[in-house]
Amino acid sequence: MRVRKKRIGERRLAACAHLLPADPAHVFGETDKPLRVEIGCGKGRFITETAVGNPGYNFIAVELVTDVIMLAMEKAMALEGGCPDNLRFYSGNADRIDELFSAHSIDRIYLNFSDPWPKARHAKRRLTYRGFLQEYRRIMGENAEIFFKTDNRGLFEFSLNEFCADDWKLSNISLDLHNSDYEGNIMTEYEEKFSSRGMPIYRLEARNRK
Ligand code: SAH
Repeated sequence: MRVRKKRIGERRLAACAHLLPADPAHVFGETDKPLRVEIGCGKGRFITETAVGNPGYNFIAVELVTDVIMLAMEKAMALEGGCPDNLRFYSGNADRIDELFSAHSIDRIYLNFSDPWPKARHAKRRLTYRGFLQEYRRIMGENAEIFFKTDNRGLFEFSLNEFCADDWKLSNISLDLHNSDYEGNIMTEYEEKFSSRGMPIYRLEARNRK
């Protein structure tokens, strides 16, 4: 049974392999379109809708868990016309993201409902830990920005401190996104789950000041 399940998984993954370039930094070739990256795309609703709605940009969705990124790719392929030309995927850990993309090549990074790692001794694993912020800075262009949202208050507070300690400029901070003026929000799978339980969604934008 387990072997069979594995075989089906391998077949499903093989059907998406063309969306998983080994070198995501150059998959779109020579292009003037700015590059935007989501780290931890989960099942992919956000990045798929975002890519469809923004044909003037290219998008890479990064996800650590193979079975999860497979669902995201299947979602993109199920669209009428298949996966949009401006969306590709990278299966792996974002902890070396500054080796994956060249300096100043990214226009925006999305962090949506990143794992909170609530234990203090795991703080360095949080995707808004200052070590990550410094990696992001290296690959972000001059006016690039990070869009971050979460249901987790502890992670949001931690992130505010990390962004400030690393001298980022914050704007559009919301402690209740769904009851704010922010327009055009695209819900993620986690966002729908948590907000349907009545939990507020926290959001901010961060720009590089250095
Ligand atoms: N953004 C999605 C999923 C949120 S859950 C949503 O809002 O619905 C967080 C996701 O980030 C998980 O799928 C997890 O596997 C992925 N993730 C966590 N750490 C990561 C890392 N270091 N690199 C890439 N993906 C990571």
